[in-house]
Amino acid sequence: MEFGVFKYMDCIFCKIVNGEIPCEKIYEDDKVLAFLDIKPAVKGHTLLITKIHWQDFLSLPDDLIAHLFHRAKGIAPAIIKGAGADGFNIGINNGSSAGQVINHCHLHIIPRYPNDGLNNWQGKDYETEEIKKYGEAIRQHLK
Ligand code: 5GP
Ligand code: ZN
Repeated sequence: MEFGVFKYMDCIFCKIVNGEIPCEKIYEDDKVLAFLDIKPAVKGHTLLITKIHWQDFLSLPDDLIAHLFHRAKGIAPAIIKGAGADGFNIGINNGSSAGQVINHCHLHIIPRYPNDGLNNWQGKDYETEEIKKYGEAIRQHLK
């Protein structure tokens, strides 16, 4: 088993990659594995993970990010057709406050149906001029 920056022997997703925990596999190549989420937000909810243990999205090497999204683009239409959905969400939970529970980088592909009851998020309002302050503060940290 190969590891990225973090060595995480008890990782559930590493165990799935190793075949120690079974999964409903959708796709596999030498770098990534896709399988159905055991507790789907919507049925057909698929997880696309890296085979090497990287803790989160920001840890991933750029070429692996490119590969991951390229494969997501290939898999998403099959999820739509196979699950009979008409749209999908792609999401990455990065950090515990964002809902990341498994610290092994993964991408969620969630099929969507009309009126499937899944609420993404509700838009909030900025105070006057606040949007500019957020814009300036964020731009300062771009490398
Ligand atoms: P996170 O919240 O970390 O972004 O997402 C982790 C996802 O992994 C959750 O949606 C959860 O249902 C799923 N999951 C956790 N353990 C297992 C497992 O053993 N097998 C499968 N297939 N999915 C799992
Ligand atoms: Zn892992």
